[in-house]
Amino acid sequence: MPQFDLLVVGGGPGGYVAAIRAAQRGLRVALVEKERPGGVCLNWGCIPTKAMLRSAEVFQIVDSAKDFGITTENVQVDFAAVRERKNGIVDELTHGVAGLLQANGVTVIEGHARFTGPSTVEVFRAGPSPVFDGGPRYAAAPTDIPIRTVEATDVIIATGSVPAPLPVSGADLPGVITSDGAFGLTEIPERLVVIGGSAVGVEWAGLFAAFGTAVTVVEMQDRLVPAEDAEIGAALGRSFTGRGITVSTSSTVTGIERSGDGLRVNVDGTDPRALDADIVLVGVGRRPNTAALGLDAAGVGTDARGFIPVDDRLRTGVEHVYAIGDVTGKALLAHVASHQGLTAADVIAGHDVHIDYHAIPAATFTHPEIASVGLTEAAARAAGHDVVTAKFPFAALGRARSVGDTEGFLKIIAGARHHEVLGVHIIGPSASDLITEGALAITLEATLDELAHTIHAHPTFGEIGMEAALTGLGLPIHIAPPRTRRGDRA
Ligand SMILES: Cc1cc2nc3c(=O)[nH]c(=O)nc-3n(C[C@H](O)[C@H](O)[C@H](O)COP(=O)(O)OP(=O)(O)OC[C@H]3O[C@@H](n4cnc5c(N)ncnc54)[C@H](O)[C@@H]3O)c2cc1C
Repeated sequence: MPQFDLLVVGGGPGGYVAAIRAAQRGLRVALVEKERPGGVCLNWGCIPTKAMLRSAEVFQIVDSAKDFGITTENVQVDFAAVRERKNGIVDELTHGVAGLLQANGVTVIEGHARFTGPSTVEVFRAGPSPVFDGGPRYAAAPTDIPIRTVEATDVIIATGSVPAPLPVSGADLPGVITSDGAFGLTEIPERLVVIGGSAVGVEWAGLFAAFGTAVTVVEMQDRLVPAEDAEIGAALGRSFTGRGITVSTSSTVTGIERSGDGLRVNVDGTDPRALDADIVLVGVGRRPNTAALGLDAAGVGTDARGFIPVDDRLRTGVEHVYAIGDVTGKALLAHVASHQGLTAADVIAGHDVHIDYHAIPAATFTHPEIASVGLTEAAARAAGHDVVTAKFPFAALGRARSVGDTEGFLKIIAGARHHEVLGVHIIGPSASDLITEGALAITLEATLDELAHTIHAHPTFGEIGMEAALTGLGLPIHIAPPRTRRGDRA
């Protein structure tokens, strides 16, 4: 009989959550992790970026304090202290996860796991790796120093993802970094080019721009955050431009070269040019982290991009082997990894559950913040829905006025006949918190009428969902209805 009921490989928000749930279900669980628990999210992603973005936000608020009747002098950024604060938060949270694993009776094994069969891994000491602040990162390959063999009845692969390399010349020059490398910067760069205008790229762009860096974002698509509703991407582009960030869309980087003390990024597209920079941050995507994992020995296949295909119970094609999180390529988000982890653990514990991806909220922590759930207007129309759209501006909310943060809007996509909510898209203050109402609306198949009838506290940012729903019903209260004929209202 195997020593463990379940072996989890990888301790990110997918793996550690799965391990805890499985232990709570009474399984004997082992988790192998080659770095610190918490994965990319806690160590190199969600949390450290948001900690630093908060510093940028505080800097901007204090810098504009006189607008609020507060006098300040000589407001400065202490970048070393910004990084120290971030490191402290990451340390606390990763220790917290280690403590939770221990408290739930999960056996944590430090090292690099490599499959020797579908239910067996050999754990090796993790190899040496570059050191950024916060600790070692992505040991390229395990050492050949074996630690132990682990066998279990069921296995969950939760090894996550790593930054995808940029396939252009000069991408390996010193000063060309990924998101991970950005955590190693000890000084605020004077000139930064960010390649890729999706969530990771625009968060770093906004952060350094707030600290005074001259930032250019180069994006291949015709707008920033191209996965978002088209109006959101356009609005972020306008906002970034207004903040002094240069936005270069419909542009492709053809190569990077040395230029004097810095770097030159050659860009092709509607506006071909060369951009000079001190640092070039590549944020063009992620690839599955399956290096030296021995998937062949487990018999687990991958798709053309290297991700592990799974069904709605997170089963791979191999019996007793499951995969969750970024390595499945479903939606590269921490909360999706965690929900997949909960589902896989429950399935393994004998529960009849499956995962449903149709209401996944996502947030991008730029200023203004972005969040969305469900279908974009274009996707809804392409799927054959006859839709109504409803928009409401933050500027018309008393709360936004009093806080002094009025940029942006909320947009609802709903079915034209029954008014069922199909998608919610927000750019503006607290978007990442407000989106939960949208996710709940889609999950519960709520309609515009139900959103409008729900009493929302005043004065709050949350009122925007109700006000947008009223607008979609043609009954707006706090904005003027659109005119149809001179003097008439629609
Ligand atoms: C800059 C940045 C910002 C982000 N911000 C957000 C955000 O705001 N919100 C959000 O939802 N998502 C965000 N993400 C994405 C989020 O971090 C990932 O979706 C999430 O971490 C995926 O979790 P996971 O458990 O699948 O894998 P990971 O978090 O990648 O964890 C995998 C773990 O497996 C370990 N591992 C890999 N191979 C082995 C092996 N062979 N043996 C032992 N251990 C192994 C790794 O060391 C790692 O700890 C961000 C990502 C980045 C890069």
